[in-house]
Parts: sequence; C-alpha cells; structure tokens
Amino acid sequence: MYYPINEIFQTIQGEGQYTGIPSIFIRLQGCPVHCSWCDTKYTWICNQKDNVSINEIINKNQSNKKWSFIHVKDILKILKKWTAKHVVISGGEPCLYDLLKITKKLEKKDYQCQIETSGIKNIICSLDTWITLSPKKNINPLYASIIRSNEIKFPICKKKDLLYVYNILSTIKDKKKRIICLQPVSQNKQALKICIEACIKNNWKLSVQLHKYIEIQ
Ligand code: SF4
Repeated sequence: MYYPINEIFQTIQGEGQYTGIPSIFIRLQGCPVHCSWCDTKYTWICNQKDNVSINEIINKNQSNKKWSFIHVKDILKILKKWTAKHVVISGGEPCLYDLLKITKKLEKKDYQCQIETSGIKNIICSLDTWITLSPKKNINPLYASIIRSNEIKFPICKKKDLLYVYNILSTIKDKKKRIICLQPVSQNKQALKICIEACIKNNWKLSVQLHKYIEIQ
C-alpha cells in the first residue's frame, strides 16, 4: 500500500502525552479542513506537479508542497536509519487514508504508533495505535473519532475557547479514560496562563509544544 508522504524525519515529540519521546514523524499530504491558523498549509493539496521522487522527500531540509507516494515496505526501510521506536503519523489529515496496513506493519517491527487527527474522518488503524484527537473549531470531529481517541488536545488562544472544550467533552457518553490536554497557541503568554488555570482546575494536562521552545523541527 502506498501513502502520499510530505515529510519523514526523526525528532522529539513536543506535544501531548508523549512529549519528550524520540519519535519519527510521517507527515501525509492532504487536508480538506483548511484552518486559517494552520502551520502546515503546504500539506493541504496533493497536486500532481508536486509529486516528486522518494529521495527528494527523504532528503528534504525545508517544508514545502512536495510529496511522494511511498510504499509501506519502503517506509520501513527508511525508518531503519533512526533509533526512535515511536512513530507519529501526522498531516495534513492522515485519516483521509486507511492506516490499518501501515500501523500493523509498524507494530510488527516493534514500533509504537500514534496518529494525530482532527477527527473529521473515520479512523482506520490498528487497535493499539494511540489516537491524539485535535478538534478544530471550524469543523466538529465525528463522534466515532472522539470515542476512539486516547487523548484530546485542544489549542487555546482565548478564554472563550474553553467553552468549545467543555462543549466537546459534554458530548462524550462512554467511561473510557482519556488524557485531556490544553495547548496554548503560538507560545502566547496570555493563552498559557488560561491553560495553566484550566488544567489545574480540571486536572488536565498542559501541552506547551516543547519543540518550539527548544527550537527543533
Ligand atoms: S486540520 Fe490540521 S492540517 Fe488541516 S488545516 Fe487544520 S491545522 Fe492544518
């Protein structure tokens, strides 16, 4: 099975429950959500003119619209050059694609999988994959995606954003334990203060985008 990949690289996970864990990021191309604040706008469209060779993707040293269809077996070969055993499948919106094959193949090779999704599409992956749901205010996540999630990470800019958090959480009817994370947008100090107060009040986790503070990819 082939996946359209924009970037593949090793770094430190900077967000959510796995913050600080060495991770390989596989960034898939394509996202129909088009958030105005998106910092990966270059992943939105799978334009044929940007379809390049695998080598160009592997050797990328700056973000751009270029992508390549890469087969799972080639992805596994690429991963061998790195030490991390945690793989984050991100985007774009990775759940535009059936991720069952890639997550199962990775697990067979002892990788732990995590998917970061906005929740607008059904999540098709292995049962052991950790799902990080990051709902966007401009398009509500599917209820099935909320239920499948292991953690829900909310970007917070202003105090009124907390209403969206409470609103989403109030829809959840199951008893599954989920990590709830608040993430201040763009290292904004006021947003950080709002997040700290709400996290302490509700016993939620603060996610500060560590990679931005330590200035890594
Ligand atoms: S869902 Fe994510 S990748 Fe898609 S536009 Fe919004 S922030 Fe960007």
